[in-house]
Amino acid sequence: MESVLKQIMQKRKIVFSISLLIISTFLFFGSTPPDEGMYPLSEIYKLDLKNAGLKMEVKELYNPDGVSLIDALVSLQGCTGSFVSNEGLILTNHHCAFDYIRKASSVEKNILEEGFLAKTRNEEIEARGLTCKITESYEDVSDKILAAANEAKDIAERMTLIRKKMKQLVDEVKKEDPGSEAEVSEMFIGKTYILFKYRVLRDVRLVYAPPRAIGEFGGESDNWVWPRHTGDFTFLRAYVAPDGSPATYSEKNIPYTPKRFLKVNPNGVEEGDFMFILGYPGRTFRHQPSQYTRFHEQYQLPYIQNLFKELIDEYTKLGDNNPTLALKLSSRIKSFANTEKNYRGKILGMRRLSLVDKREGEERELQKFIDSDPKLKEEYGSVLKDIDEIYKEIFDDGRLGLMYAQIRRNPLIRLYDLLAEYRREIKKPEDERAAGLRGNRIENFHATVKELCNDLDQEAETAMLAKILNDGRRFPEMQKLETLKDLYEKKESPEEITKYIRQLVKGSMIRDYDSFKKLSEAEDEELEKANDEMRDFLSDLKKDYRPFQAKSDIINGKLNISLAKLVDVKKIWQKKSFIPDANSTLRLTYGYIKGYTPADATNFKPITTLSGLIEKSYLGGDYKIPKKLKELYDKKEFGRYKNQKLGDVPVAILYNSDTTGGNSGSPIMNAYGELIGVNFDRSYEATINDYAWSQDYSRSIGVDIRFVLWVTEKIGGADNVIKELGIN
Ligand code: ASP
Repeated sequence: MESVLKQIMQKRKIVFSISLLIISTFLFFGSTPPDEGMYPLSEIYKLDLKNAGLKMEVKELYNPDGVSLIDALVSLQGCTGSFVSNEGLILTNHHCAFDYIRKASSVEKNILEEGFLAKTRNEEIEARGLTCKITESYEDVSDKILAAANEAKDIAERMTLIRKKMKQLVDEVKKEDPGSEAEVSEMFIGKTYILFKYRVLRDVRLVYAPPRAIGEFGGESDNWVWPRHTGDFTFLRAYVAPDGSPATYSEKNIPYTPKRFLKVNPNGVEEGDFMFILGYPGRTFRHQPSQYTRFHEQYQLPYIQNLFKELIDEYTKLGDNNPTLALKLSSRIKSFANTEKNYRGKILGMRRLSLVDKREGEERELQKFIDSDPKLKEEYGSVLKDIDEIYKEIFDDGRLGLMYAQIRRNPLIRLYDLLAEYRREIKKPEDERAAGLRGNRIENFHATVKELCNDLDQEAETAMLAKILNDGRRFPEMQKLETLKDLYEKKESPEEITKYIRQLVKGSMIRDYDSFKKLSEAEDEELEKANDEMRDFLSDLKKDYRPFQAKSDIINGKLNISLAKLVDVKKIWQKKSFIPDANSTLRLTYGYIKGYTPADATNFKPITTLSGLIEKSYLGGDYKIPKKLKELYDKKEFGRYKNQKLGDVPVAILYNSDTTGGNSGSPIMNAYGELIGVNFDRSYEATINDYAWSQDYSRSIGVDIRFVLWVTEKIGGADNVIKELGIN
């Protein structure tokens, strides 16, 4: 295994360094360090981090030939975490662990509200469904993917061949090292592709979570807002089989020994200090053309924002006077609310910056530049026009794809999809099946199904599907689907549609895990005979949508070529290269602990305190706090976590590095690579980051390590955790 890794490392070093040498020469040579950017590992060496303030060798931070800080990083299904002990202890956000804490809670024993502490290993509880992914190596496979893509007979085949090649490369890694996972990530659309190899640990447990009133202090009122006073952190632990291999939960499992863990520095930071973050940022869209941003402004953001807003109200109502259902729906409500507010921020940011107009203006300038040189004109003259043509087709179908995706996001509909997938795949020889249905991954598949079944609620599913379908009546593009056209003709009022959907949901064959299991094993004939209107409705909808799916493959095939050209010519025009948009792969970003001026006549400092938290607590509601917190504050029991300058315990910090969703839970490190906080949010103005980052308004928010430790020790009484962190 070692030698395979080494080979990959070597290859990666050569291929990647050549392709990125040009970038580095333009961007970083002799200049003051740029502060924007989520740098892939391959580009870390090109940064002048020493000049920026780093006080350790870059090799200690990232060393492809040995162990370095990056080995302490984990991806936690849409979030980030870091190992903070050699016994697999992980520090991440409370909001990243929220759903798992919720699943381990009941109305009678509500650890989400009360908090949770395992004093011993035996008391740690399974974070059901959570896995923890560690990046092991990566390799530039752009040539292989593009060679396969260029074999396509027509544009429709391009995406199929790309996907096929990706799968083949992934399968090769897994064959060589069955305990590993792999993924090909597209860095620049149609240009660069990296094959990442991961180790996925499948037994993750809860160790310490603060009470919700601390972990989510400020609730939605404070979400995406600075100043902030949220103790958004939780400790978890990763386990493996006794032989060290990844395994699902078992009492026999032992704590995982990471190659590297981060040292926690209880002294924290001061304003102006250098900081950096390693993490798995989700998605940004900075290299997309103006039409992409216009589509988001016109369709995507308002559609989803409105849908989620109503669902939050509906689900909240459903939970009134029904504490069990309220607990069940709390994760969905939280996740909708997080996106809903984020999208509101983005819509505002787009208007404030006139982002679409600005992008269009840039593209006009770019066209002039291209036209001024015959050679460029020949090569790139039609790129922008081509993209425009492609987007006309995308705009033609408006919200159709968005709506269809939301229907399929519903837990009941997902179960139908999973059932169909299971029945289709399980008949195939194992190595031809979808990755999630091979070998011991079937266990995970069933665990996912079980969780989805546990979360089903007929009224909640009805509310979601009825809202989506009722919305559809207002949008002419939805009538392109025969099934919906028919539905709108037959059912004239929203109430009728809701009634119809309720009837489908109630009559569904999938009611719980047992019924799913039976259906997954049933004979084809038996299933065909069964009466299930929901299944029939979905199957009609799927049939109607098929041509649009095919169209989307052609559109993506065309964009795959045009967007690659767009980046190329932009590079020539701006005489610089770019960092790829975030795509859930490991990145580094750095900056300084720094305040900002978000609006006229306001000036924000970058560190909040316990006194500020207490001030807010008098408002009640989202700001209620546990009694114990107030008592400790009144007694000024700050322990070693008091900052002398502030005369107080620091709670949250603000900094100007570049983050997005997925960076939640990322360790914030000081100049020596010591952990001094946990990233969890951005300021409201920075929600527009995903399209356009700026030193002026882009700020990220983390919980200060001093508050993490103060809460863990004084409120949680988790001496075992404090000791394990090496704090004395
Ligand atoms: N709070 C964010 C999230 O929910 C983190 C971010 O986007 O900066 O993912």
